[in-house]
Amino acid sequence: MARVDSADMRSRRQVRWWQRRGSVRRLAGCFLAVSAATVFIRFAPEANHLIWIANGVLLAFLLLAPRRFWPGYLCVGFVAQAAGSILVNSHWEQNSIFNALNIAEVLISAFLMRLWSPGLPRFTDRAYLIRFVGFCVVAGPVIVGSIYGMIAAYWYPFPRTGLLQWAVADGLGAAVAAPACVAVFRMRFKSPAGLGKHWVYLLLLGVVSLVAFSQNTISVLFLVFPLLALVLLRLGLGSAAMATLFVAGIGSWFTLRGQGPFGFATSHSRLDPAIGLQIFIASAMFMLYTVSVVLESQHTTERRLQKIVARHSLVTENSRDIIILADFDGNRSYASAEAERMLGWDAEELAFHRSLDLLHPEDRPKAAAKVQELSAGCEGASLECRVRKRSGEYIWVEANLRVVRDPKSGKPCGLLNIVRDISERKRAEQSREFHLSLLAAIHEVSLDGILVVNEKGNVVSYNNRFSDVWKISAPEIPASLLEMDIELSDELLLSQVLGRTKYPEEFLKRVQELYADPEALDHSQVELVDGRTLERYSSGLHRDSGKHLGRVWFFRDITERKRAEQQLQDAFHTVEALAVTDALTGLANRRQFDQCLSNEWRRSLRDRGPLSMLLLDVDLFKSYNDAYGHVQGDCCLKQIADAAMQVVARPGDTVARIGGEEFAVILPNTDNDGAIQLAEEICEAVRRRYLPHSANPDGVVTISAGCATILPSLGRHSVTLIELADMALYQAKRSGRNRVCNGISACCKDDESLSDGIQNDAIFRIA
Ligand code: GH3
Ligand code: MG
Ligand code: MG
Repeated sequence: MARVDSADMRSRRQVRWWQRRGSVRRLAGCFLAVSAATVFIRFAPEANHLIWIANGVLLAFLLLAPRRFWPGYLCVGFVAQAAGSILVNSHWEQNSIFNALNIAEVLISAFLMRLWSPGLPRFTDRAYLIRFVGFCVVAGPVIVGSIYGMIAAYWYPFPRTGLLQWAVADGLGAAVAAPACVAVFRMRFKSPAGLGKHWVYLLLLGVVSLVAFSQNTISVLFLVFPLLALVLLRLGLGSAAMATLFVAGIGSWFTLRGQGPFGFATSHSRLDPAIGLQIFIASAMFMLYTVSVVLESQHTTERRLQKIVARHSLVTENSRDIIILADFDGNRSYASAEAERMLGWDAEELAFHRSLDLLHPEDRPKAAAKVQELSAGCEGASLECRVRKRSGEYIWVEANLRVVRDPKSGKPCGLLNIVRDISERKRAEQSREFHLSLLAAIHEVSLDGILVVNEKGNVVSYNNRFSDVWKISAPEIPASLLEMDIELSDELLLSQVLGRTKYPEEFLKRVQELYADPEALDHSQVELVDGRTLERYSSGLHRDSGKHLGRVWFFRDITERKRAEQQLQDAFHTVEALAVTDALTGLANRRQFDQCLSNEWRRSLRDRGPLSMLLLDVDLFKSYNDAYGHVQGDCCLKQIADAAMQVVARPGDTVARIGGEEFAVILPNTDNDGAIQLAEEICEAVRRRYLPHSANPDGVVTISAGCATILPSLGRHSVTLIELADMALYQAKRSGRNRVCNGISACCKDDESLSDGIQNDAIFRIA
C-alpha cells in the first residue's frame, strides 16, 4: 500500500515538474523574445520612434495565457526589457520608467482585450480585430503615450518625444508583432503549413523589399503589397505579419539612413521619413487585416456550406427513400441515388421520363389530381401508386409531396417528392384482406358456431351460427359476426350457455381447464337440457413465435347425427342377430355354432378343461312331414328347440340348429357324464311334450342323441368332436332310435387326456 502511495506521489511530482517545466520554458521564451526585440530596436535608436515591437511580443504572450500567468509574464517582460536596455545604454533610470510604461501599456491592452474577448486571439475575426485595433493599437499606446508625454514635458533629462511618436510606434509595433507572434506561438514553433512550398514568395518579398528600400531609381515599392497579399493567401496572417515585420525592419534600416523612397522624400518634403514608413507599414497591416477578415468570412461561409452539403448528401444518398425535386410538369431537377437502387433507372434515364409517365396508367389520373391540388395552393399531399421499374415490373410506392417555394418570391416553383417502397406493406395488406374475407366467409357459411376469445378473455368474434346453436337470442349478446372492436367478456357468454347444459359443473370445469392451458386441445360432446347434443372442438391460437393469442371454440349441433347413428346401430344389431340366429327356432344357426365351437375349443385348450357336444336328430321325421305336413313339421321343430332350451340352463352352453331337423349342443367345461345326463334330459323333455307321431313306434315324437367329450390339445381340431358326436348319433339311430349314445374314436381310446371324467371302458354306451 505504501509502495503504491509513493509511486502515485512520484508520478504526481513528475506531472507537476513537467507542468512547471512547460511554464518555465514559456517564461524563458518570453524573456528571450522580449529582450531580443528590445535589443534589436535599441541598437537602432532611430527606429525606436518608428516601430516598437517589444510590447507587441509581450502582448502576444498575455493574449495566449490564462490571466493567472499574467504577473509572471509581466515581470519577465519587465526584466527582459530592462536587460535589453542595459545592453544598449546605461540610462537605467530612464530605461526603468520606459519599461514600466511599456509594461503598463501591455497590461492595459491585454486587460481590455480579455474583458471584451475572453477567448483565444482570432485576428481573422472582424469583431476581434476591431477590438484589437481599438484597445491594443490605439487605446493602450495613446493612454500610456499621454503619460509619457506628461513625464517628458516636466522632466528635463527625458527625451522629448511626443505622445504621437510613442503612440504610433507602439501601435504599429503591437499591430505587426502581436498577430505575428500569436501565429508563431500557436504553431508551437513549427513551420507553418505550406512554408516548404511557398518559401519563394518570402524570398521574393525579401529581395523586392531590399530593392525597394535601398534605392530610389526604380520604384518597386508597389510590389511589396501584392507579395504580402500572396504570403497572406498562401501562409496565413501570422506569416504575413511576420513578413511585414521583416519589411518594416528593412525599410527602417534604409529609411533612417536617408535611402529609399521614404529617406529620399526628406530632401523634398517636410514629412518625417519615419512617418512615411509608418504609414506604409500601417497600410500594409490594414490591407492584411482587411483581406484576412474577408477571406476568413468567405472560408467560414464555405466551410458552413460544405458542412451543409455534406450533411445533405449524407442524408439523401443514404436514405432508403428516393428524394426527388421536380417542377409541376414532372421534370426532375434532382433524384437521389436510391432511385437507381429502388427502380433501376439511372439519373439520366430518370431525367428523360416525366414523373407521370412512370406511373401505372390506372394511377395517373389520381397523381395528376394531387399535383393539380398542390399547384393550386395545397401545401402537401401523399399518394400510394405503382411505379414502373426499369425491368418493366411495377412496385407500390408511397409518394409524399411538398410544395417548394421560390426563396425570393415565395411562389410555388416545384415539388419535393419523397418516395418510399411499400410493396411489402401492400402485399401484407392484400394478404390480410384476403384472410379477413376468407375468415368472414367461413364464419358466414360454417355449420359450426364459432367463437374466438383473445388472451385477455374478451370475445373477439362469433358468428350467427354460434347464437343459433346455443339458442342465445340477439338481446342477450350485444353484437355479432366479426366485430373486432367489441369488448365483450367471455364470462358473459359463459353465464348464458351454462344454464343450457345438462351438466354445468362439468362444462365449467372443462372450460376453465382449457383456458388455463393454452396448449390444450378439446374434442368432446356437450349434452344440453333440451335433449340436444353439441360437439365441441377447441384449440389455442398462437403466433408463429409461439405467443399465445387466445382460443377458438367450435360448437356443432349433432343431435340429428346422433339419432341417425343410433338407428343405424340398432339396425346393425338386428342384422347381426339375424345373421347368427336360426329364423325358425330362434336358436343359434350353423354359422354361430361354428364360431362358438371354435371359441370354446380354444378356451378349453387354454383352461385344460373338457369340452362336450350333443348332436340331436328327430327320429323318423320324414314320415312326420309326410303324415302331418311341413308346416306342422316346422311347429314340431320349434317344440323340440324349446324343449332343448328348457333343459340347457348354463349361460356358457349353446343350443344350435345345424341342419333341417338336427340340433347340436356345445357344453364347455362339461365332463362326459354331465353331457350324457344332459342328453338324456333333453330326450326326456322332448318325449314329455307328447307330440303325436303315428309313424313312431312310441306314438310320440322322439329324438336320438350322440354324445362326445374331448380334452382339446394341440394338434387336434374341433371337427374331431363333431365327428365323435356324429358317430355316436349314428350308433343311436342304428341301435333303435330314441336314445343316447356316447362316442369316442379308436384313436382317442388310449388317450390319457380323456381319462378324466370320460368312460373309456365302453366305446358306446346306450342310455
Ligand atoms: P331317421 O330317424 O333315420 O332320422 O329318419 P328320418 O325320416 O328323420 O330321416 P332323415 O333324417 O333323412 O329325414 C329328414 C327329414 O326331415 C327330411 C325332411 O322331410 C325333414 N325336414 C328337414 N328339414 C325340415 C324342416 O325344416 N321342416 C320340416 N317340416 N321338415 C324338415
Ligand atoms: Mg336327419
Ligand atoms: Mg331324422
